[in-house]
Amino acid sequence: MRIAVFPGSFDPVTIGHESIVLRATSLFDKVVIAIGDNAQKSTMFSVEVRRQWLELVFMEVPKVEVTVYYGLTVDFCRDLGASFILRGLRTSADFEFERSIGQINKKLDDSIETVFLLTKPDHSALNSSIVRDLVRFKGDIRSFIPDALQPEWLINEFNKGRVG
Ligand code: ADP
Repeated sequence: MRIAVFPGSFDPVTIGHESIVLRATSLFDKVVIAIGDNAQKSTMFSVEVRRQWLELVFMEVPKVEVTVYYGLTVDFCRDLGASFILRGLRTSADFEFERSIGQINKKLDDSIETVFLLTKPDHSALNSSIVRDLVRFKGDIRSFIPDALQPEWLINEFNKGRVG
């Protein structure tokens, strides 16, 4: 079985992530979206909420699973029996960043291949940090988040975080 792990923060999931995952389902038997729970990285949304939103977005796509992982991505792939790491490439800056991670991962485990999908042109300017800024400053996020999500959910979560 060809299993790909799609690691990331998904803080929050965007239509860019959604598109990469859907496109990857024609290449792999299973795509495991893996939310990296990195204590060093502070996020706007809790790992539980990020997971719930991803599960909702891919609820009707049987090949897609959502999970949370700690530690090295290659270790997680090995535990899962996954031979592929999936990443999206938006810009040349992404390429430089991904090249170094990809080459280190290859050094750590030669049996795992990183596979890149080029972003659709209309998604190449989009990232989660733009969505977070829009949430923070009350901009309209509707066209950047998957249809399965309501903008109000993100706004409510953000407001909870500010109080708590
Ligand atoms: P990370 O913190 O690992 O960069 P992200 O959640 O930002 O986590 O991204 C996870 C993956 O999704 C990365 O491979 C990234 O290139 C890809 N990605 C992010 N935004 C987009 C987008 N707009 N279009 C396509 N791929 C994207």
